[in-house]
Amino acid sequence: MVRVRFAPSPTGPLHMGGVRTALYNYLFARQKNGTFILRIEDTDRSRFVEGAEEYIMESLDWCGIKVDEGVREGGKSGPYRQSERKELYGKYAEELLKKGSAYIAFDTPDELEELRRSYEKKGNTFMYNARIRDRLNNSLSLQKHEVQKMIGEGVPYVIRFKMPHNEDIEMDDMIRGHIMVNSSTLDDKILFKSDGMPTYHLANVVDDHLMEISHVIRGVEWLPSLPLHYMLYHAFGWDKPSFAHLPLLLKPTGNGKLSKRDGDKLGFPVFPLYWPHGDKARGYREDGYLPGAFVNMLALLGWNPGTEKEIFSMDELIKEFSIERVGKSGARFDAGKAKWFNHQYMQLQNLDDVSTEYIHLVKGKGYDISMDKSRRLVDMVRERVSFVHELWEQTDFFFEAPSSYDEKAVKKRWKENSPALMEELRSVLEGLDSFGSEETEKEVKEWINKNEYGMGAVMNAFRLLIVGEMRGPHLFDIITFIGKEETLRRIDRGLEMLT
Ligand code: GLU
Repeated sequence: MVRVRFAPSPTGPLHMGGVRTALYNYLFARQKNGTFILRIEDTDRSRFVEGAEEYIMESLDWCGIKVDEGVREGGKSGPYRQSERKELYGKYAEELLKKGSAYIAFDTPDELEELRRSYEKKGNTFMYNARIRDRLNNSLSLQKHEVQKMIGEGVPYVIRFKMPHNEDIEMDDMIRGHIMVNSSTLDDKILFKSDGMPTYHLANVVDDHLMEISHVIRGVEWLPSLPLHYMLYHAFGWDKPSFAHLPLLLKPTGNGKLSKRDGDKLGFPVFPLYWPHGDKARGYREDGYLPGAFVNMLALLGWNPGTEKEIFSMDELIKEFSIERVGKSGARFDAGKAKWFNHQYMQLQNLDDVSTEYIHLVKGKGYDISMDKSRRLVDMVRERVSFVHELWEQTDFFFEAPSSYDEKAVKKRWKENSPALMEELRSVLEGLDSFGSEETEKEVKEWINKNEYGMGAVMNAFRLLIVGEMRGPHLFDIITFIGKEETLRRIDRGLEMLT
């Protein structure tokens, strides 16, 4: 039975790398008919940030990553917030003490700081480990009755893991293969703090065990913790889950981890949603990304389907995703590619949905249009844009006559004979009974050919009068949309202003 978990700490907005971790866990669970659990790891109260937990859940909702068991959903292994499980961890720390795998340490933060400094002075690094623990202030060096007395007096203490000396720890990772670390390179990590709270390591391993997690899929920044986690499973005598450590998301340059600063500097979001608290941050949702595009892009940052295919729906991802095809090395983020995905998704989106959004956009500019007109406009220009908000700059001239004429275009396209040509074109158009796109095009072209006028000379000058510059879709579609009256009005105004 596959049970996986996403276990974020609510310390701020969820980074897109975190969303990718959640996504890979979700895909893995769905593919194996397993369970996807959301566990909130909030035992470090000093790093707790108001609003972060809600932000995490809203982000997963927006991405379409559905939680099976979690804070909101409940489930057989709850509660799913570690702060609500805090009574439970002490018992497991006790168990390790009894088994001799952990010990009590009274060293104060000041004492440890001083040790650290004196080591540093000699160019060494201080490590609380097998080499020196017998000389420090703990239950391994003190007499039993001394320890009892100190505890009785309320002297603060922590519980540390007793990392064995010089032992090879052999591990397996689904992405990285076999890994070996010698225990002498590791220190005696604190498992339980003097404030009665477990540290990440203890709470994480205990909960993964109690929640019957079968596969731990998480960021590579947790790989250094793996030997300790292995040793903890060993000490408890529990079966271990399988582990997979995902590659980093790298800056666009490929040097180092993708950070908020990169996004601020280069103009892209690194968070799924807008973060409204404190150090505010832009989000993909508010920047106009479609959740499907965001998810698709994330899925391919680290996972390689092994084919040329790039567009994957969530269902396709569930079918085709595999941990074996996740790379070991970091995945470079490419903001241009993110936009490309959104462009693709905008083209695939249901026309009515885009048209509804477009009606809102246009309303914001002060114009009301029908669904039918909205559909026509969206259909005409959507292949030119990557975001809904970009539709306006492709269609503003349907609503607003040009108030000025692009200087460069005038210089290049408004020739000596342009006024005369446009006067004549005006009367051709005025004489037409019906003003459909195809008929007007046919009539105008016949007139051009009959008089042997240049096609470019007429059409460029005409576009300048209607749009104000050299852009926009098929000109006959534009004039049909704005209608005969408005077309003639724009010609008159242009002639007046340019001659
Ligand atoms: N709470 C850790 C985090 O914030 C979880 C790491 C893990 O998945 O074990 O990423």
